[in-house]
Amino acid sequence: MELAKRMTKLKPSATLAAAAKAKNLKEQGVDVLSLTLGEPDFSTPENIQEAAIDSIKTGKASFYTPVQGISELIDAVITRTKSDYEIEYQTNEVMVGTGAKFILYTLFQTILDQGDEVIIPVPYWVSYAAQVELAEGVPVFVEGHQSNDFKVTVEDLEKSVTSKTKAFILNSPCNPTGAIYSKEELKKIGKWAIKHNILIVADDIYGKLVYNGNVFTPIATLSEKIKEQTIVINGVSKSYAMTGWRIGYALGNSQIISQMIKIASQATSNPSTVSQYAAVEALTGDQSQVEVMRQVFEERLNHVHHRLSQISGFKIDKPHGAFYLYPDISECMANCGYTDVDEWVSDLLEEAHVAVVTGAGFGTKHHIRLSYATDLETLNQAIDQIIAFVDQKQ
Ligand code: PLP
Repeated sequence: MELAKRMTKLKPSATLAAAAKAKNLKEQGVDVLSLTLGEPDFSTPENIQEAAIDSIKTGKASFYTPVQGISELIDAVITRTKSDYEIEYQTNEVMVGTGAKFILYTLFQTILDQGDEVIIPVPYWVSYAAQVELAEGVPVFVEGHQSNDFKVTVEDLEKSVTSKTKAFILNSPCNPTGAIYSKEELKKIGKWAIKHNILIVADDIYGKLVYNGNVFTPIATLSEKIKEQTIVINGVSKSYAMTGWRIGYALGNSQIISQMIKIASQATSNPSTVSQYAAVEALTGDQSQVEVMRQVFEERLNHVHHRLSQISGFKIDKPHGAFYLYPDISECMANCGYTDVDEWVSDLLEEAHVAVVTGAGFGTKHHIRLSYATDLETLNQAIDQIIAFVDQKQ
């Protein structure tokens, strides 16, 4: 059967593909160390598990819920956002969905007509461009400055604006670089977006994973006008170790939110009911585990960054947030006789049995992404094997 034309363009997620390749090798008996996936290696905290079990036992989890999400969860999102960031949203300005990924999908379907442009700073999270294209929009890539943690400036953005520019994606802390935009940088971006009437899509999903005294400022908190210009994307996956539960949410303009809910009503109905009750407990219950996990990530970052920066030909600034490292390995590739980062990554997997993600999936040609959301022993072993691989090639 002839498939839809859009399928010829659509690539599978680079991170999920790399993880699947590593898993395949593992199943064949190869002892692969995988640093591919962006998910905490911790189990979901006990109190959240209990709330989920309770919702099953009491029968609440057996049924559909409103597409927008149960009212307890909508209230929990509003209260948590207000308490964390001193910013207030109304009930009709919130939507809960099947992971932040699907929430973003509904957003692009809601705001983009064919040919509408979305500005995406490079490097970017793998799914932004694909989702924009699925909505028949056009991703417009703006190179960040490697010397400034790959962040883009208003001057860079200004060069990319056209009459078709509809939205700008801001991911701070950033996957894959871990960069965080400062308040001053965000103020300028906010002003610029208002001037051109460009919607800011603020993907704040790593907002609680910030290290070594760095500070995350949600752009929507900077002024009432910037808030009106922004749709905030967030979720429980990363900060509450709940990737498998698939709960994300959006906050912003009620007209946009109501249309996103309409899409979900035809695509998924409500997100899993048991997960919604778990997320209520995550957002309203004891928050101490969030800080415990953050501290573990911080320790790993400090250790692993130090070791990686000593590898010959690896250049790496210290990330401020999220749980990834994004070294520039151009010198290492040249020393080892590689011109293609995909090949380097593929050989690392096959010869050294370490799985990382190629920077190509994030829009750059000489980087790799390693996730430190895995235990220190695995991280150390993987780095030993990367060092041995590089030594042997040079
Ligand atoms: N946004 C970014 C930047 C991410 O890295 C991810 C997950 O990897 C998501 C959104 C989606 O998160 P989820 O769908 O698990 O809520």
